[in-house]
Amino acid sequence: MLFQQEHAFFCPFCGELIDVLVDELSGPQSYYEDCSVCCSPILFIITENDAGEISIDTKRDDE
Ligand SMILES: [Zn+2]
Repeated sequence: MLFQQEHAFFCPFCGELIDVLVDELSGPQSYYEDCSVCCSPILFIITENDAGEISIDTKRDDE
């Protein structure tokens, strides 16, 4: 089953608000996705707490 949720993030490179589809059923993971505005590789870090809530961090990979 596909369960993709759209989330809005500010790109850590160009500061634009972008919409990204996140596959929340895949559990904790990290991956790169290119910004749709500036094409820089944004590192998405998905974590899950004890209550099963998903939280998503975005980072530049040069930090
Ligand atoms: Zn960008």
